[in-house]
Amino acid sequence: MDTFNTPLPQETVGNYIKRLRLELKMSQNQLADAADIHLHSLGKIERGITTRLSHKTRRGLARALSIPSEYLEAICNGSEIPQPFNSIKFCPKCWTPGTPTEPIWNDVRSLYCFICGHELISHCVKCGKSVRTFQHSYCPYCGFYYKNTITEIDSKKTPYKKNF
Ligand SMILES: [Zn+2]
Ligand SMILES: [Zn+2]
Repeated sequence: MDTFNTPLPQETVGNYIKRLRLELKMSQNQLADAADIHLHSLGKIERGITTRLSHKTRRGLARALSIPSEYLEAICNGSEIPQPFNSIKFCPKCWTPGTPTEPIWNDVRSLYCFICGHELISHCVKCGKSVRTFQHSYCPYCGFYYKNTITEIDSKKTPYKKNF
């Protein structure tokens, strides 16, 4: 998985957005359009004149740049970037929610469980929100009990359940 879209340490929100825009080979015009913000607002953000982004701007930019809006929020607030954001993975068969997991599941290269071969999951199967910590047994967003993940997947009969 590409990690270019994670903010670098010390990177300002303007530099971050500009860097991603250039990586995606977008002009300021295209990005402003895609994010549904004014070209000159974007210019001010990239030049570092605007450092606090409104909710709407954050959402628009996040969508246009395919990044979690939490990243922009974290940079603007000067808080810690949610590191494990895109890398928390678990095997729905082998993991007991609320207990530590096998570190290898979380390896970016791991796609399947090394114990049972089931596809690894990184989000709540009910509401689709990323799983950010292994300390929880229930999804903080919708109350789904993670232990029921496998049952939920089976009930939806997703095509990748072919391993057995
Ligand atoms: Zn497993
Ligand atoms: Zn949920």
